Amino acid sequence: TTSSTTPLRIGILDGDDIGLEIVPASVEISRAAAELHGVTIDWHPLPIGRTALDTHGHTLPPETLATLKTLDGFILGPIGHRAYPKVPNAINPHPILRKDFNLFANVRPTRSYPGIGCLYDDVDLVIVRENNEGFQPDRNMLLGNAEFRPNDEVTLSMRVISRTGSRRVAKAAFELARQRRKHLTYVHKDTVFKLGCGMFVEECKKLAAEYPDVRVDDVIVDTMAMRLVRDPQSFDVVVTTNMFGDILSDEAAGLVGGLGMAPGLCIGDGDIVMAQATHGSAPDIAGRGIANPYAMMESTRMMFDWLGHSRRNEGAVRMAASMSRAITEALGDATARTGDVKGKGNTASMTA
Ligand code: ATP
Ligand code: MG
Repeated sequence: TTSSTTPLRIGILDGDDIGLEIVPASVEISRAAAELHGVTIDWHPLPIGRTALDTHGHTLPPETLATLKTLDGFILGPIGHRAYPKVPNAINPHPILRKDFNLFANVRPTRSYPGIGCLYDDVDLVIVRENNEGFQPDRNMLLGNAEFRPNDEVTLSMRVISRTGSRRVAKAAFELARQRRKHLTYVHKDTVFKLGCGMFVEECKKLAAEYPDVRVDDVIVDTMAMRLVRDPQSFDVVVTTNMFGDILSDEAAGLVGGLGMAPGLCIGDGDIVMAQATHGSAPDIAGRGIANPYAMMESTRMMFDWLGHSRRNEGAVRMAASMSRAITEALGDATARTGDVKGKGNTASMTA
């Protein structure tokens, strides 16, 4: 096999609030790991969010989008768009980023670590959440809003499920299952949503035939909510539609110490990946240096591991492995880790 030494081109998008703390922390540990393994990275800090509104008059400046299109991957800090001023260029960048880069699968791992207040000490599962349709479809799919109010008494919310969308997210999950314990659970409610969930289920079943090495089962979403609490150890890779995945992944995070422990990697057709923690910008704790950087760091590690494999960059794979060891070690040290996970440290001590 050949190994690439082409520099990885990586964007740094701090986001808002605690993003300004946890993204630099994630870049810092990445730089250290890259140096250790001789990996060349071209870093591209790019304006986004509230700071970009101040400096560039737009929360997603055109120059940011243009540069992103030339990159291998980027780190996206949490976005606090609900607190943006009500001006035309203060948009939520998320839907545009997901659509422009076709990031249809949101890979969200949940893993137990000792001593940090996990409800179980042996959880190791990954939820793959469909990212571009469901109740939060691209505006283009519906040629407008997914919700509307025909009269003051009634609101209609539309959920989009497509064959292509279902198949591609399920395929990403099957591929992941193949690299893990070869067990895939698809979650739905086709008992009620016969057409929408039904289509998702059909596509999962078709793919199951193409992955005979992967053990496949299915669970109805309400049962899943219960089983995640009672026997989360029985899951390896879980794939589901957008909103079910949103809710279940926060539930899963609750099993292992909360939102600070919930990383994510958004993947699509393979050209570019986006490291994005599951949690929001946590304005309540911003600026105090106490945010848990785990989720952002682990998302970043997943990005380098992914790029290491997809770009045949063996250094990046080793780099990700080093980051994993370091993150695990820091989490194991109560003086280093943050207060939300039973530590006495802060963002800086965890990073150090
Ligand atoms: P969003 O709508 O963007 O998902 P949210 O309302 O779910 O946002 P978050 O910003 O995700 O809210 O955070 C909820 C709470 O969890 C925060 O107020 C904060 O106390 C805690 N929290 C979230 N992320 C972290 C973190 N990295 N470290 C420590 N605490 C966190
Ligand atoms: Mg949330």
